[in-house]
Amino acid sequence: MRNLPFTLPKCDQPAAGRIEIYSPDPAGDAFGSLDASVYACDAHVPDVVAAAWAVELTAYRIEMLPGLERTCGEFYVYLTGNFGGDQ
Ligand SMILES: [Zn+2]
Repeated sequence: MRNLPFTLPKCDQPAAGRIEIYSPDPAGDAFGSLDASVYACDAHVPDVVAAAWAVELTAYRIEMLPGLERTCGEFYVYLTGNFGGDQ
């Protein structure tokens, strides 16, 4: 099971934004590797951002794609990222 190294909100509201989660590369670029996307409602966007920062990941909010419906707390782990390759 691929998972994130931080806790997501348990919430059933429609997501209002998508948060891209990056891990730093060895050179110190905070946007080194795009590892996951997390969906969150307006109330939980700050919580997700804070949780990612707390484990030294970079969180960057982007807008939802038009027509895309997701629930707060849903996430997607990129197979090419640092959380996706090990199992
Ligand atoms: Zn929420």
